[in-house]
Order: sequence, then structure tokens, then C-alpha cells
Amino acid sequence: MPQIIELTDALSNKIAAGEVVERPASVVKELVENAIDAKSTVIDVLVEEGGLNKITIIDNGIGITAEEVSVAFKRHATSKIKNEHDLFRVHTLGFRGEALPSIASVSRLEMTTATGEGAGTKIIVEGGKEIEKHSAQARKGTEIQVSNLFFNTPARLKYLKSLHTELGNITDIMNRLALSHPEISFRFSHNGKSLLKTNGNGDLQQVMASIYGLAVAKKMLPIQAESLDFKLTGYAALPEINRSNRNYISTIVNGRFIKNYALVRAIQEGYHTLLPIGRFPILILQIEMDPLIVDVNVHPAKLEVRLSKEAELGKFIADTLKAVFHKEQLIPEGTLSKRQKLVSEQIAMNFDGQEKEESSAEETREPAKSAPTFTPSYSTATQSRSDLPTSDSIPDEPPLFINEEMATYEVETPIEAPAPKAERIPKMYPVGQVHATYIVAQNENGMYLIDQHAAQERIKYEFYREKIGEVDRELQQLLVPIVLDFSTDEFIKLSDQKAKLEEVGVFLENFGQNSFIIREYPTWLPKGEEESTLRDILDEALHKPQISIHKLREDAAIMMSCKKSIKANHYLTQEDMETLLDTLREASDPFTCPHGRPVIIHYSTYELEKMFKRIM
Ligand code: ADP
Ligand code: MG
Repeated sequence: MPQIIELTDALSNKIAAGEVVERPASVVKELVENAIDAKSTVIDVLVEEGGLNKITIIDNGIGITAEEVSVAFKRHATSKIKNEHDLFRVHTLGFRGEALPSIASVSRLEMTTATGEGAGTKIIVEGGKEIEKHSAQARKGTEIQVSNLFFNTPARLKYLKSLHTELGNITDIMNRLALSHPEISFRFSHNGKSLLKTNGNGDLQQVMASIYGLAVAKKMLPIQAESLDFKLTGYAALPEINRSNRNYISTIVNGRFIKNYALVRAIQEGYHTLLPIGRFPILILQIEMDPLIVDVNVHPAKLEVRLSKEAELGKFIADTLKAVFHKEQLIPEGTLSKRQKLVSEQIAMNFDGQEKEESSAEETREPAKSAPTFTPSYSTATQSRSDLPTSDSIPDEPPLFINEEMATYEVETPIEAPAPKAERIPKMYPVGQVHATYIVAQNENGMYLIDQHAAQERIKYEFYREKIGEVDRELQQLLVPIVLDFSTDEFIKLSDQKAKLEEVGVFLENFGQNSFIIREYPTWLPKGEEESTLRDILDEALHKPQISIHKLREDAAIMMSCKKSIKANHYLTQEDMETLLDTLREASDPFTCPHGRPVIIHYSTYELEKMFKRIM
């Protein structure tokens, strides 16, 4: 029989380390969180060789008394909770008392700490063994150096990725910690090179600027909302600035950065139809709630939490974001991404070699002051018109006016002021049509390019979305009913969804084996395409049997909006264009088509003047 024995402390710490200390980034996370819990206002993080050589964390927090230094390295030793009652009201980032013993068991850890009263203490622990401890002169706070990480766990060492990847993970953690705590000044460097610096003045927008750049930070809208259970603050990027993955979404619950799929979904729902498919927002959401409804004790690295009111919170987040965007003008500026700029500069070169030389010479002369170059729109015209603008044509990081000249210009010139909030877009007067596809329009704010197909899709989508909710009142008897035949399994699936389908205007009656008959349908179905529309809705229900009524309605509205919209390459009269633009102004979200592609691009008068070098 195998004997049951108690593991030594050193061994159980190593086992715990396997969970808590996965890689250098986890060391950084745990130690910085300790510094935050110690009420530090300035935290320095110095990393060498992706953290494999050395990680140093210096804080100015409360420190540890000489008597307690050794205890801090004992497993489950913590100053943060005392009993079960506290466990459900955790206000600190740590509470399990595992990080210090775990890290010290798989590295050489040197700590110098002082409380500001009496002498400080220095302790060295290696592979879990205390090898040195004595009093030492130190200012208030704690400095920890971790070297030789994973020297005694070769499997873990082998599992680490390249220096580059490890550094990427550390940077990600540092960014999230800084975003979670704008009131703390973080300084983070790698091999002596500064990678992040925040000033700790509490201004989240400044932290975002340090991480994502000024251009992005300036295009973020504040989030502020409060309900009985939750308080939301933070910033959401305008939909025109988006990314190809979810990494730029940060959710922070009571100061703790967390990963929660339901909340991310709610955020995407808040951006619904404003973002192209497959694109994700940049967003920092700080959520405050009673610690009693957050279970932080479910994940080894405390990255996931369990929220007892997750659905309510999700809905509150989605509604809050929708309201944020509803208040805003969302027309992207007609500036082009760097890549597109290159394309158009090349074209400029072909037209006239001097132009290119001139602009590059200018840029070399005054790189710091040079305002973004606004290139004319002919570069977009060179793209094939087989499709609507793709996410590629949306500038990833539109240049921003950051020079002083522009700042004063903006303040003094009323033409840059946004249109009144009640009308989401200003009146635009059509000038003409390009390639029978884009409408060129103008007003006192400058020039607009409108994708006629996208504009009409948006208008129709909103029309159908509204109509589809009013099924009963507007039914029309069919002279010749439609009979639809299905396979047995399709028939069963559709029979299951009859009630749901009725909510979107499809009334199925059984008609012999595996067939349905439709005797009436809503009057608002696209004329001449009633049968194909009904079939499309049934198709949607067949392929997504779990689809909610809400989603089915929305999908059906999107589908119908595509059906009858004016396509590209379609000539419009002046009157057609006026009607289209005026109707677009009445849309509740006129900025994107239901697939998230932009409808309008704006070139301000200032940009036009700048392009033609009328002003410098
Ligand atoms: P936990 O954070 O879960 O309490 P740790 O193992 O991370 O567990 O730390 C153990 C204890 O050591 C903490 O509870 C805290 O009292 C003390 N401690 C750790 N790091 C610091 C620090 N930077 N400043 C002050 N005290 C610290
Ligand atoms: Mg801790």
C-alpha cells in the first residue's frame, strides 16, 4: 500500500508555484499587486532579458516589519484576510498568501523592506530556503529582486517562449495594471529601456495615451453610469478606431483586471452594428460593485471572477455603451492610414515627381512639427469597387491634430464644431456622384463622401427593425398561398420554432407531410421579394436553431435591408441624392451600415485647405 505522508513546505510551495507562477509575467503581476495592496503611490518595475535574468520591483508602500518578514514567506500567510467573513469581502488584490512563498521556491529572491519606523530588513530566499536575513538601512517601502527564475523547475523553464513573447506578456500585464490604477505612478523598463511611464495623477485618459498613444486616447469617449448595483467608468474608443482582436478590451472589477467572456460579449453588443464584422473596440471599463457579489476565489491567478449578477451587469454595460454612442457624431475624418498614404503618395509621384520630393523634404526638415499629411481621396478610388469599403479602408489610427497651431484653429473656428446633438449628422448638400457609387456632398463643415449603398442599407435596416416588431397589425392575405417543402429534419426544426418565427412575421401552417403553407405575411416585406425573403428567414432559423427572437429579428432586418438597397454603380439624380441624404439624417445610427462599414467620411474645410497647402 502506498503510504500517505504530508508534503514538506518546500515541496507544497513548489506545487503551488506551478499554479501561481506560470511565467515571468506572473511574477511581475503578483509582486506589483502586492505593492498596490501595500498602498504604494510609485511602483518601479525593472526587467532584464524578458524577466528570465532579473525582475526588480520597487515600491514606496507600507513595508513589512522585521518580525513579519519571514512569516510573509510562509504558505498561506497573509495580512489581508483573517477569517471566512473577510474572504467574501476581499478589498485587496491578494488574499491567499501564496505568491511570495511560491515565487521564492522557484527562484532566488532578495527583499529589502522597511516600514519607515526603525531599521529595515533584508532577506534572501533561494529555492524556498531562507539563506540570509539581517537588518538593513532602507527607506520606507519594499524592493524585491527575483533572479534565476525556474532554476529548479526545468520543465517550466523549457515551456517558456522566446524572450520577445515573455516580454510581450509582461508588457500586457503592466499595461493592464496601469489602466486599473491611474492613481499610481508606474515606471516599467526592459534592459534599461523605458516601456511605460504613468504619472499617477488619476487621469485614466493620460494612462491610455501612454499605452495606446495620444491619437487613440483623444478618440475615446468617457463612460459614466451608475445603477443600484454597479458603477461604470472608463473610456470607449469611437467605432472608427478598432482592432482585429479583443486584447484592447480591458475590464476591471473593483480595481482588479479580470477576464470575463460575458462582459466582453456585452461590450461588443454595445458596439453592435457600429463595428465591422471581425473588428473589436479599444475600451477600458472600470466596474465597481459590492465585493459580496464578486467571487474572486475561483482562479489560481485570480484572472477570472464569478459575478452573481453577471447578466444584469452585461445588460447595463451594453445599454450604457449604446447610450454613449447615441450621443455622438460618429463620422470618421477623411484621413488615410499610413499604408494608404503611401499608395497615394506613389500616385502623386506618378503624376508629378516633384510633389513627392517636396512633401518628403518637408517631413525631414520638420519631423516633430509636421502636421499629418492629408492625402486626397483618389487613392481610395484606385481600390477595386467590387465591394463596399472593407475594414482595411478604415484608418487604424487616424492622424490627429496635435500641434498648437491646430489647437487654436479648432477653438476659434466654429466650422469645426460638431452638429447639434439632436440631429446626429448635419444637413449635407449633394454635389455629385463618383463612379455611380459615392455621393459627394458639402456643407459649411467641409466635404463628405457617402457610400450610397451603405447609406441605404442603414436606412432600410432601421425601417425593417422597427416594422418587424409590429407583425400583427399589418398582415396581408395572399391571393395565392405559398407552399414550402422541407426534409423531415428541417420540418421538425422549423416546427419547433413556429412561435419564434411568428414574431418576425412568418406564419407557418402544417400542410401535409413535411410541408408548410403560408397564407398571409406582413405588408412591409420587400415588394416583389416576399417569397424569397420568407425563405431566407426560414433558412436563418434552420441554420441557427438556438437563435433568440431578438437576434432573428435583427438578422431578418439586416437581410431585408440588403435586398432592396440601391447597389453601387447605380446612377442617382440630384433629387435621389437629396432624398437619400435627408432620410439618412433621420436614422438613429447613420454612421455605419448594419454590417458595421462606414457610411460617411468627412473632410473638414481645414483638412481641404491643408491638403492644398492654402494654410500650413
Ligand atoms: P497575499 O498577497 O495573498 O497576502 P503574498 O504571498 O503575495 O500573499 O504576500 C504575503 C504577505 O506579505 C502579504 O499579505 C503582505 O502582508 C506582505 N507583503 C508582500 N509584498 C509586500 C509589499 N510589497 N509591501 C508590503 N507588504 C508586502
Ligand atoms: Mg500577493
